[in-house]
Amino acid sequence: MHPTALFAVDGLLTEEEREIRSTVRRLCDRELRPHLTQWFEDGAIPARELARTFGGLGLLGMHLEGYGCPGLGAVSYGLACLELEAADSGLRSLVSVQGSLAMYAIWRYGSEEQKNAWLPAMAAGERIGCFGLTEPDFGSDPARMRAGARRDGGDWVLNGTKMWITNGSVADVAVVWAQTEEGIRGFLVPAGTPGFTTRDLKHKVSLRASVTSELVLDEVRLPREAVLPGARGLSGPLRCLNEARFGIVFGAMGAALDCLETALAYAGEREVFARPLAAFQLTQDKLADMALELGKGLLLAVHLGRLKEAGTITPEQVSAGKLNNVREALEIARTCRTILGASGITLEYPVIRHAVNLESVLTYEGTSEIHSLVLGKALTGHAAFA
Ligand SMILES: Cc1cc2nc3c(=O)[nH]c(=O)nc-3n(C[C@H](O)[C@H](O)[C@H](O)COP(=O)(O)OP(=O)(O)OC[C@H]3O[C@@H](n4cnc5c(N)ncnc54)[C@H](O)[C@@H]3O)c2cc1C
Repeated sequence: MHPTALFAVDGLLTEEEREIRSTVRRLCDRELRPHLTQWFEDGAIPARELARTFGGLGLLGMHLEGYGCPGLGAVSYGLACLELEAADSGLRSLVSVQGSLAMYAIWRYGSEEQKNAWLPAMAAGERIGCFGLTEPDFGSDPARMRAGARRDGGDWVLNGTKMWITNGSVADVAVVWAQTEEGIRGFLVPAGTPGFTTRDLKHKVSLRASVTSELVLDEVRLPREAVLPGARGLSGPLRCLNEARFGIVFGAMGAALDCLETALAYAGEREVFARPLAAFQLTQDKLADMALELGKGLLLAVHLGRLKEAGTITPEQVSAGKLNNVREALEIARTCRTILGASGITLEYPVIRHAVNLESVLTYEGTSEIHSLVLGKALTGHAAFA
């Protein structure tokens, strides 16, 4: 029995959603999986080529309407994230940052000119975007960011440093959040603007098949129209993060599923004490627990997707989904690794790669601790982190 069959999750999906999932899975099998080990080992991906491939399939800004975006439902987008992350969290990150952070910020808060200038090319994967919120000293607490923008005549002048920025050095445009006299505002900073430089972060052990960079802004002069007119205050970037977190609710279950499928196959073939590893009660206990958490996580993801499609989903519900599904996916990856024994520590199997990737996923888009505190506030009415 396939682990997802236990909860009959497929029955909750439309034919179109199942078709989208199969299409993305085929793409991953044919064009991505054969290269993943190499990309991970090298700590380098062909980001431009990948963006065009993803754009060609309509995976960039998939849930946005207009400006060359497909305007598909939340569950379809989630299933695409699930399949991409079943390949590698780094690839799902590329798509999430492009569609749910950079494109969403422009789509939601941008002027008509900004939308027309960037969104069709970003949807096609011809242009790449990044989202600069985190700074070296402020991650969980972005309200204290130091990056600042001041008006100078008709221009804006930006200074500051952004850290841990996915797609940073390969981006054609950076959505940069900075303090202004009017509170936090978002700016579109095209690559190559004088004073704007990037530096890739090396020595990552996690999310190696993903570009992570530092952005440095040193007296970067931008025209008046570089500001996103619709966003004022921290609620602007936080709403974007909520979009990307939603994709993670599904994506994390993709990584978990790939681990569980691998462990099931391995346990069926590997003999210990003259019997298949799968025939031992301790192994079956692990497999049963993992199938339960996977099924519950998938049900939660589809449920949240339907709430998002109905327009009723709340940030707390997205926090609950991100917290639960990433935590459980990480636990599943670690347990699967034990089933593979020594083979579990090599890149010949995807399990250890998923496990170390999920350590990043646990931290970005709001750490697990911050999501616990969001739920704590919702339950008690007391904010423990403000
Ligand atoms: C691979 C990767 C890619 C990323 N991509 C992006 C990106 O594209 N754009 C972007 O802007 N950012 C990005 N980030 C940054 C990410 O969002 C931050 O790392 C995250 O928000 C946590 O911030 P921090 O690392 O500064 O940790 P800190 O905020 O310093 O937190 C350190 C620890 O303290 C805990 N903590 C914080 N506050 C509290 C509290 N009140 N009570 C108890 N514990 C607390 C945290 O949960 C954590 O465990 C990325 C990070 C990684 C690893």
